[in-house]
Amino acid sequence: MANKPKILLVYTGGTIGMIKDYNTGALRAFDFNQIQNKIPELQHLNCEISTISFEEPIDSSNMNRKYYVKIAEIIETNYNDYDGFVVLTGSDTMSYTSSAISFMFENLQKPVIFTGSQLPIGDLRTDAKENLITSIEIACARENNEPIIKEVGLYFEYKLYRANRTTKINAEQFEAFASMNYPPLAESGVHLHFNNHLLFKNEKSDEKLIFRKNLIDDIVVLKLFPGITPIVVETILNIENLKGVVLETYGSGNAPTEPWFIDLLEEVIAKGVKIVNVTQCTGGSVILGLYETSTDLKRIGIIDGKDITTETAVAKMMYLLGEDLSKEDFKYYFEKPLRGEISLQP
Ligand code: ASP
Repeated sequence: MANKPKILLVYTGGTIGMIKDYNTGALRAFDFNQIQNKIPELQHLNCEISTISFEEPIDSSNMNRKYYVKIAEIIETNYNDYDGFVVLTGSDTMSYTSSAISFMFENLQKPVIFTGSQLPIGDLRTDAKENLITSIEIACARENNEPIIKEVGLYFEYKLYRANRTTKINAEQFEAFASMNYPPLAESGVHLHFNNHLLFKNEKSDEKLIFRKNLIDDIVVLKLFPGITPIVVETILNIENLKGVVLETYGSGNAPTEPWFIDLLEEVIAKGVKIVNVTQCTGGSVILGLYETSTDLKRIGIIDGKDITTETAVAKMMYLLGEDLSKEDFKYYFEKPLRGEISLQP
């Protein structure tokens, strides 16, 4: 490439772009367009950086599908003018947001790297600088004149992960994220090392980018716990307009075998509500039918979430509900990896 790669930094909010208000002691957002002043090192990167910021940056606790669409529209509008995108959001819900973006774009041929930080950029001990600088380097990285990363990634504390494999695991340490069921795509040490065999390879490399923004959020996450009562399950499953349930079961997808529980699930499945089984464990997979405690779930047509994370199951549910699929197709596409979010069973 003759010219320097062009990178668009999209700031939505979160700790990374905050400063301390010394009157109140609380963190508040600063004008992100001043980022080059806060991190003068950015000028030494071998790329051209532009920034775009939400007019009113948000804490990621306020993230929702409307903001997902807003982020994705910024990427779509600027897709042809930039070589890569770095999206800054709060880390609290970054796994949900980045997963949603991964589904909203099909045939992505450019890097979209999410990052943030545990300490604000103005803090002396901040992790923001490293996270931001390396994310930009990753977004610029090319081989044979092609971007190395052609998927949605999440970079934090020296590791690039496939975004839709991540979970926030720590509110205190700089190593805030883990990807329990898929190894890092890249690691940053003295050198930036890409694990090429793990990167998402788009089969249809010449196909046009497809952008879908019809997400449906009439869904619920139902986490089982020993002693959960029929009234609680019944009330949740019968919420008006409910279209999808992410059911967090135990271990390899196990749930109570009591008839009231199975009957309630079967009733709402018959009404067209989609229920996906994901495990409460941070690592490993649902294996429907492995134990007697999941054979009934299999029989009543529950969707097998395999090794998907809860965050990604929520995002995929919102995305597939918006596609208006038949019951069979919904199950088929949910159980199949679309953006590398599920492992193929051995
Ligand atoms: N509360 C912040 C947020 O998620 C935390 C962070 O940025 O890491 O927006």
